[in-house]
Amino acid sequence: MKGREPMDDASRGTARSRALFERARMVMPGGVNSPVRAFGAVGGEPRFIARGEGACLVDVDGNRFIDYVLSWGPLLLGHAHPAIVRALERRLPLGTSYGAPTEGEVLLAEAIRRFVPSMEVVRLVSSGTEATMSAVRVARAATGRARIVKFDGCYHGHADGFLIRAGSGAATLGVPDSPGVPEEIAALTLVAPWNDLDAVRAILDRRGAEIAAVILEPVVGNHGVLPPRPGFLAGVRDACDRAGALLVFDEVMTGFRVARGGAQERFGVRPDLTTLGKVIGGGLPVGAYGGRADLMRRVAPDGPVYQAGTLSGNPLAVDAGLATLRVLEEDPTIFARLERQTERLAEGLREAAGSRRDEVAVNAVGSMFTLFFAPPPIATTAEAGRSDRARYARFHSALLARGVYFPPSPFEAAFLSTAHGDAEIDATVASSAEAFRAAFEGSG
Ligand code: PMP
Repeated sequence: MKGREPMDDASRGTARSRALFERARMVMPGGVNSPVRAFGAVGGEPRFIARGEGACLVDVDGNRFIDYVLSWGPLLLGHAHPAIVRALERRLPLGTSYGAPTEGEVLLAEAIRRFVPSMEVVRLVSSGTEATMSAVRVARAATGRARIVKFDGCYHGHADGFLIRAGSGAATLGVPDSPGVPEEIAALTLVAPWNDLDAVRAILDRRGAEIAAVILEPVVGNHGVLPPRPGFLAGVRDACDRAGALLVFDEVMTGFRVARGGAQERFGVRPDLTTLGKVIGGGLPVGAYGGRADLMRRVAPDGPVYQAGTLSGNPLAVDAGLATLRVLEEDPTIFARLERQTERLAEGLREAAGSRRDEVAVNAVGSMFTLFFAPPPIATTAEAGRSDRARYARFHSALLARGVYFPPSPFEAAFLSTAHGDAEIDATVASSAEAFRAAFEGSG
């Protein structure tokens, strides 16, 4: 931990954040540019952030927090990592976008393939949403089929066909189907229950000939962390093969989080197509989709499947991503260390719940975790849905007051970075013991 203790000043008030939020609400929906940032699910008001340093966020009032949101996943190396800052400083004077190919894009695509070998051919885009919608287009083109299967609680970005039982933001807002999504498009998406292989088989047996692809988060992160049951992913792979449907792993969150090569490496299941985002941009906007060469060669200009982007492969974003992947390649121990730290925190949180520990479940895979206010085990969306929202809201606000920034929703994954050392974890566990009292006893 650098400089000041992270917990030394989380009580400087919120006047500046409040004033900004008031102004923001006049000019932006809910005062934010992405719904969950508004703190609606925990009944609070968002902090406006001035800067990030390593494991910490500092808000505009000068409050300092140990950050477990990490920009919703991208900051595997923490805030303002020197390698990323240096890469951006080098690039900046050379121009910010060319709309023409660069060496960096080749290097990043090659690096992605080293980490995730099933991504034989890769297209860079600017967000996870773009990656998933494009992957599905490729799957539909390749199979000549229109329907897709997704899982209850999985979120794949905000394209029309995915906003059906889409987890976190949608679940906590209570609007599983967004207005504005035409019924005709929604009807092309079939929803299966997570971790229920029989249900997936039944759908594929019955309607397999209509199904272009099954898309899933191989560890669900968007309904809280829900690992796949043993054999589940392999079973889905088999069912897809029998039906002639493609399997798409949406590793926007799990990529570079649950293992060096993502969930497909960890669980030993090879998808046909993979989507990435978050960590590969190192905090700048990058997404990617890729997979079997015969499928990806259908993408324009090699093939007829159209997909394009003015800022795709943006040089600043690519350099931030490359800097991140270089750090990971230089230090192969990073993923084991991150996982150990995450386990340490998960165990610390369970202990901190004290006599109520049977009433909380901490699910953790790699460097992602969720604390549910419901008895373990939590393996399905329905079980996750039992998490006590009011308790989580009190827990969240008590932690925030003590300088710990947890996701402002009970159904979001939290993350660790390489900047989270023992000191940050110990401080978090100490604060959480008090926050549990607030959560269970109903006082702050
Ligand atoms: N897929 C998954 C699994 C995600 O977690 C997210 C974002 N949380 C997306 C897709 C969409 O990515 P983006 O927000 O960059 O569009």
